Amino acid sequence: MNTKHPKRIVVKVGSSLVTNNGEGLDHAAIGMWAEQMAALLKSGHEVLMVSSGAIAEGMQRLGWTKRPQEIHQLQAAAAIGQMGLVQVYESCFARFNLHSAQILLTNADLANVERNANAKATLETLLKLGVVPIINENDTVVTDEIKFGDNDNLAALVSNLIQADLLVILTDQGGLYSADPRHHADASLLSHAIAGDPTLEKMAGGAASELSKGGMLTKVLAAKIAGQMGASTVIASGREPNVLTRLLVGEKIGTYLSPANKN
Ligand code: GLU
Repeated sequence: MNTKHPKRIVVKVGSSLVTNNGEGLDHAAIGMWAEQMAALLKSGHEVLMVSSGAIAEGMQRLGWTKRPQEIHQLQAAAAIGQMGLVQVYESCFARFNLHSAQILLTNADLANVERNANAKATLETLLKLGVVPIINENDTVVTDEIKFGDNDNLAALVSNLIQADLLVILTDQGGLYSADPRHHADASLLSHAIAGDPTLEKMAGGAASELSKGGMLTKVLAAKIAGQMGASTVIASGREPNVLTRLLVGEKIGTYLSPANKN
């Protein structure tokens, strides 16, 4: 395994991390990821961010303490929260003299030949310009990630769209464990596995929280999708100090999932 040399990196951050468990957008955490991504850009990598947190931030802005069941209320919350989300990313990257760009995508966009080509061309152009794309699902028109996923699947599709070398899924867990560590004290962290290994899916079943609909299963499935195009995936804690820059100098943090054809 080698996390040292991937050039193109997709970093996915989930709602509970981005909003510090729903307390509001975590400026400090986003600032630290921006600082690390700025360092990675300087050392020759290309970086893209897939961020959820729009619904969580929208709920916060509306004073909703419980996630509504009604899908249109969730979509409305996403539309409200997306404003705050991009404002924070924009100001955090600006501190490092970097521009960021908002990209809202859906599965259906990427499945359509013309839209897929347009999305790819836009992302490639942004990367050439040294701009950091901040990608989220377009929750106004679809509900895939709202219902199940918290953008894990979208992150894998983006990784494949731009043929990324590495997908980093940052979460509030230390990585993939043999059992849910919140309920099993003897659960052990898997440091390396093969993406697409069916035993991982059994191991990762369930384990989502009120804020993040994803849990580990969607992360393992995302690694499988990214692995099909040859990308490696790391699932690691977004609260680990300097997690991105440390991973990219080859430190072993969290769970490394290598594609089946190269490990
Ligand atoms: N795209 C959504 C967001 O950014 C997905 C996360 C969710 O369902 O809470 O909030």
